[in-house]
Amino acid sequence: MALQPEEIARRAESEQNRLSQLAREYLEKRGVTVVEIAAIVYDLQKPYIPELTLEACIESVYRVLDKREVQNAIFTGVTLDRLAECGLLEEPLQTFVFSDDGLYGIDEVLALSIVNIYGSIGFTNFGYLDKVKPGAIGLANGGAPDCPWTASKNDASERTVRPTKEGRPSRDKKQVNTFLDDIISAIAAAAAARIAHQSRDGKLSC
Ligand code: MG
Repeated sequence: MALQPEEIARRAESEQNRLSQLAREYLEKRGVTVVEIAAIVYDLQKPYIPELTLEACIESVYRVLDKREVQNAIFTGVTLDRLAECGLLEEPLQTFVFSDDGLYGIDEVLALSIVNIYGSIGFTNFGYLDKVKPGAIGLANGGAPDCPWTASKNDASERTVRPTKEGRPSRDKKQVNTFLDDIISAIAAAAAARIAHQSRDGKLSC
């Protein structure tokens, strides 16, 4: 029997919730919480909306994380960071991502897929955050390395990783956040743009 429209909608919503929660878990495992991102949003928008509350910013970050484009960017970027951390990417990508090569640029391009969602205000905010790197964006360094794929050391050592001076495997070195910092900036920029639109339309409940 064919599914009823209500059942299709219910299943889609439950899948959406599952992915949204998974995206939050990806961020939390890298040391970034929704509240920390919301604090960046608050600082961005407070000068323009004096009645703004942190709760409204938290709500906005949650809504941004509900978007499939945002979830996909998180899954992709965080996974590439973790693979680079473990020295499991092929060259030259391993060196580019591990060393956060300034000319690589794909980390910013991936993050722009998030910023796009709420229009040009998001672009302006993203450019600012990318430069200033406040709050959780700045912290995105110094966390513990996270290498689940190297549980079997023999297996890892047999991979065709060609360590270089800059791009060597980093199990005991540092957390790679080449994609993460741009993703956090983009989520904050999008959540701030969403609030700006809501405020202009008189729909913001602070
Ligand atoms: Mg980056």
